[in-house]
Amino acid sequence: MNLVNRLLQTALPLTPKFIVRFFAKRYVAGNTLEDAVATVRRLMAQGCCATIDVLGEAVRNPELAAQAVDAYREVLQVITEQQLNANISVKPTQMGLGISEELALANLRQVVGEAANRGIFVCIDMEDATTTDATFRIHAALRQDFQNVGVVLQSRLRRTLADARRLAQEGINVRLCKGIYLEPRRIAYEEPEIIRWAFVHALEVLFAGKGYVAIATHDEWLIEQSLALADKMGIPANRFEFQMLLGVDPALRRILVGSGHKLRVYVPFGSHWYPYSVRRLRENPNIIRAGLEAFLRRRLDA
Ligand SMILES: Cc1cc2nc3c(=O)[nH]c(=O)nc-3n(C[C@H](O)[C@H](O)[C@H](O)COP(=O)(O)OP(=O)(O)OC[C@H]3O[C@@H](n4cnc5c(N)ncnc54)[C@H](O)[C@@H]3O)c2cc1C
Repeated sequence: MNLVNRLLQTALPLTPKFIVRFFAKRYVAGNTLEDAVATVRRLMAQGCCATIDVLGEAVRNPELAAQAVDAYREVLQVITEQQLNANISVKPTQMGLGISEELALANLRQVVGEAANRGIFVCIDMEDATTTDATFRIHAALRQDFQNVGVVLQSRLRRTLADARRLAQEGINVRLCKGIYLEPRRIAYEEPEIIRWAFVHALEVLFAGKGYVAIATHDEWLIEQSLALADKMGIPANRFEFQMLLGVDPALRRILVGSGHKLRVYVPFGSHWYPYSVRRLRENPNIIRAGLEAFLRRRLDA
């Protein structure tokens, strides 16, 4: 990464919120559920499906966790009523994992139960490595009672190949991604090339198992490797889908849909947009750079 991008990344936490908002709005559907519904409808018209995320994380107050449960209930109701081609994604710390594992499990049980009644799938997002074990435990507890719940693997983590083996054997629906949280070298790979290869290895294990796999990446090399692997292993199209984030590489999205692949877009909405947006901008400081360059050019031309 070049020096300018590194400087932009370092400056992000000090940047006023309204500026972050300006650059990050492409990643978020809006503040309200109506905004999310409008985005999902647009995506459906383009041949995509969606997973809806109510923004929020690191909740420290049980009241706020209960509010998040209610917000997801509303999303589930709207998905049914408006016949949206969508499921939901939920963060364990939004359900209260930072307060206690029991609380997060109880809250997720309500969300997953309501989704089960409506025939809607729930993906439990994977957060930083301090939450990995608890997230797998919560997922396993939910699986005792529900089939409609899956979990995420991050190829950045050294443990992931072992986790992939276990989940593949159990036939769990898994989303495989690189992992957005920067972790210490002791537990995570740091080199982008190793993270890529670890992704391919984990995917091979998941394909060899019984479960459905969501390949969540915008990395075209990985997408090509995934398709080649599916072809080599004789994996039918109904065993996997691609997933991408709202606001990232819509051209690649169109290419995949145009080639007949199932493509699900992660659609976050809500007022707690800040931590999610900062993670996205840190991942791609070019967005801020391009915006700043355009702004300065306008000022100089004026
Ligand atoms: C549907 C979905 C769900 C996810 N869920 C989780 C989760 O639960 N836990 C977790 O830790 N991570 C999650 N992630 C994030 C993931 O781990 C990666 O951080 C993210 O996808 C970027 O990695 P990449 O594989 O796209 O490869 P990269 O090499 O980072 O990106 C490939 C290319 O995509 C483009 N790109 C990537 N990011 C951006 C961006 N922010 N803005 C503009 N362009 C960009 C660039 O052109 C880049 O060259 C999820 C990702 C997706 C797509």
